[in-house]
Amino acid sequence: MYPSSTSKSRAYPWRLILFPGIILLIIWIVYNIPNLEKRNPAQAKFLFPFVTPPLEEQQYFDVTAYRLHYHFQFDSIRSPKLVATVTVAFKSRVPELKRIVLDFNSSLVVDSVSGDAYRFRRSEGKLFLDLRRQLNREEAGAVRVHIRGWPKPYHPWIAGMGYDVVMQAPEFNEVPWVYTINPPFGAQTWFPCKDDPRDKADSVIIAVVVPDTLQAVANGRLVAQESLPGNQRRYVWKTTYPIATYLIALNVSQYKIYTFTYTDDTLDSLPISFYVFNEDTPYVGEIRDQIFRMMRFFNHYLMPYPFEKEKYGMIRYNTSGGMENQTITGIRIFRPSRERLYAHELAHQWAGNLVTNETFHEPYLNEGLATYLTAIYLRDQYGDSTFTAYLNRLRRSAYGKLYVEAVTVPDSVYQMSSAYYKGALFFHAIHKILGEDGFQQFLRRYLREHAFGTISTAQLKALLTRLYPYDWETFFQQWVYQSALPVEEFTH
Ligand SMILES: [Zn+2]
Repeated sequence: MYPSSTSKSRAYPWRLILFPGIILLIIWIVYNIPNLEKRNPAQAKFLFPFVTPPLEEQQYFDVTAYRLHYHFQFDSIRSPKLVATVTVAFKSRVPELKRIVLDFNSSLVVDSVSGDAYRFRRSEGKLFLDLRRQLNREEAGAVRVHIRGWPKPYHPWIAGMGYDVVMQAPEFNEVPWVYTINPPFGAQTWFPCKDDPRDKADSVIIAVVVPDTLQAVANGRLVAQESLPGNQRRYVWKTTYPIATYLIALNVSQYKIYTFTYTDDTLDSLPISFYVFNEDTPYVGEIRDQIFRMMRFFNHYLMPYPFEKEKYGMIRYNTSGGMENQTITGIRIFRPSRERLYAHELAHQWAGNLVTNETFHEPYLNEGLATYLTAIYLRDQYGDSTFTAYLNRLRRSAYGKLYVEAVTVPDSVYQMSSAYYKGALFFHAIHKILGEDGFQQFLRRYLREHAFGTISTAQLKALLTRLYPYDWETFFQQWVYQSALPVEEFTH
């Protein structure tokens, strides 16, 4: 993820923020004039500033699949409605499992439950589902939750589902624009789930009914689409790679869709798709070339793109800078000048999506590495001076503990100064200790050994300890648990 300027740390001195702020505001206004956006007034009310921490009982089951069936109604374009059925398939991890507890911190109404659930209760952001039958260890079950209403996000820069009405050239008709940005805990505002990156679902189906003038776009591959009575259309997306809930995405609007086939000596054929608006058309060729160059670089420097059977997509949304939803990155602005942002989000497909921070106490594992991989990509494309300048810029604002205590406050998780800047410099320090080849081997092992799973600070330290003799204990203590940027002293 890469927050926009409005969500950056408030700790900057005001002088440093005021001038760039005015320039960014002007740029923002200029970029947004073509859209003539009208924000839905209902969105101004946010849900909860905090989420409740996971309960021990939520470890009693392992989620295997989510099936989201969403029916959007835009009859009244300023007050859209949603009727949905969410199926959560799971396996018991304990003997005698009698109920499951999902996270559902949502303004959506629960109408009823079915499948293996016969009764529900909502309390403090949790959905307690009593099971019809007791499950043994390893036994599979599935609960269905029938919901309706509209899901308010829980944060000003959206954690959950955002909604706007956009006026699109050339006709300037009003068009609905639905998008999601979940991190850290926004998924539970729009579907009941186990909102915990440690429990990735093995597959997700997202089936969406919308008016046939619109398209629905989500993770994975479009496996079916069909016309329905009443000028409706149903889109069915499916991903079969393990996925954390914060990376599940749903988008609806009237897009222009461009699809290209990417090939290199590591990948046979990968669809790369842009879901953009009319105004973005002139930039499609240049941005395609950028994404192709990045894909080629990361495929070789790291390992082949992890979601090859599905796609890599970028889709216009209307919130902070970028969000690396698995196989479908959300981007606010589609312009070649955003190359660094696009590299950051593509790098996340490895650093964050293939291998995910185990908890949001350690966002630097995702954000620091994606930021550093952006620097490495810039070095490859533009040379050492660009690389050094990029790192020096990070160094000027890098501070704060990499380990985050209060994860239920989204602002404390996504701090530019710590998770992004200091996090990137943390990986740069490892790079300097291990050397060029050693660092690349370390990255490949980081990705291979934790592929489709998660990694923690302790596991990262253990991996480095196995690879190279060094005082990693002191290194982690200084970088991760202290605020100041360590004075870098290296033997080579
Ligand atoms: Zn990021």
